[in-house]
Amino acid sequence: MESFSYQDGQLFAESVALTDIAQAVGSPVFVYSRGEIEQRWRDYDEAFGGRNHLICYAVKANSNLAVLALLAKLGSGFDIVSIGELERVLRAGGDPKKIIFSGVAKTEAEMRRALEVGIHCFNIESVNELDQLNGVAESMGRVAPVSVRVNPDVDANTHPYIATGLKESKFGIAIEQASDVYARASQMGGIRITGVDCHIGSQLTEIEPFLEALDRTLELVGDLQDQGVTLEHIDIGGGLGISYYDEQPPRPEEFILAMMDRFQDMGSRYQNMQFIIEPGRSIVGNAGVLLAKIEYLKKTEVRNFAIVDTAMNDLMRPALYDAWHEIVPVIKNEYGNSQIYDVVGPVCESGDFLGRGRELDIREGDLLAVCSVGAYGSVMSSNYNSRPRAAEVMVSGDAWHIIRKRENMDDLMRGESLLPD
Ligand SMILES: *Cc1c(COP(=O)(O)O)cnc(C)c1O
Repeated sequence: MESFSYQDGQLFAESVALTDIAQAVGSPVFVYSRGEIEQRWRDYDEAFGGRNHLICYAVKANSNLAVLALLAKLGSGFDIVSIGELERVLRAGGDPKKIIFSGVAKTEAEMRRALEVGIHCFNIESVNELDQLNGVAESMGRVAPVSVRVNPDVDANTHPYIATGLKESKFGIAIEQASDVYARASQMGGIRITGVDCHIGSQLTEIEPFLEALDRTLELVGDLQDQGVTLEHIDIGGGLGISYYDEQPPRPEEFILAMMDRFQDMGSRYQNMQFIIEPGRSIVGNAGVLLAKIEYLKKTEVRNFAIVDTAMNDLMRPALYDAWHEIVPVIKNEYGNSQIYDVVGPVCESGDFLGRGRELDIREGDLLAVCSVGAYGSVMSSNYNSRPRAAEVMVSGDAWHIIRKRENMDDLMRGESLLPD
């Protein structure tokens, strides 16, 4: 959250007071820092030095067109999981040749479109998917570049919903079976083998699981070379965590340097491979806040509630993962009335909370900022309880721009119709 700071008791994003944005746009509103997003991307890029690499930003973390366009301008690649994300990247000016297509259930239509625009690589997650891709490519007279997503069976030590590299997971192909899949792929007319990838989970706060996954994947690369299959790239996925509370994940540059060291140790046979990563959260996560206005303070026998105009439909992570987000006042007032509050929204669910047990000195009408919501925030929002989706704003220095309008009542009901009679 380096781009968000208090100046004279007022919370700023870069050089813009958040109260100014709330006054003009209302709440709830997501506010992102352009500088912070760009800096995190550059941290990764610079850490690679001269090595052949590609950073494929994981679009699902935050897919706003303005965010994608910023990264495209820096030269970023993109990791997508649907045709919707593909079209977004293209519309934002992303280079199709730098797109990686992940996901367990790519449909024929998605494969067709991705082949049409010429993406960098399909990350294949099952033999059946490989067969289907081969068929689609042959029917189009194309050859599909393919990487096999292996499941290295590494414990990422993270929330079970976002751990993806264990045997029990639906993701990837067991690493022991991978060489059979490569052998099969090498016989296919519509397939060109280009790489190997894995992604073991999200919000990882240690380097060790990544290194373990890298070791196992490199071992496979060596075995494949012995079998005459030479890979052009290795993709270690995304998943580097950020600090929400007191986590101390390695910084992007530490993470990359540790991986490069290990890579170096493995010897010269790997030196020409392109190194791909797919970071999402660690680029945008700490670059956004969500502003919420306090509607009511409510005291019950056992609890104090700060009821805000922002809810689980705007930010689902607390309800879904029991995730912790820091909540701070936008203006630091000293009313001398600090209390412990549950910060909750208007949605009719007891799971509708943004934070529980928070000490705050607040009054009705004050603005709160929910921190570290740049990733898996707005993208997971819904219209539950017929709540229009929030606005999104990007700050750049002392300027700011609406990058998504707040939905209105027509947006809310778009596409619905009455029965004819
Ligand atoms: C979600 C995902 C990512 C990004 O994960 P972060 O934790 O946001 O870095 C990268 N690759 C794949 C395949 C994913 O599913």
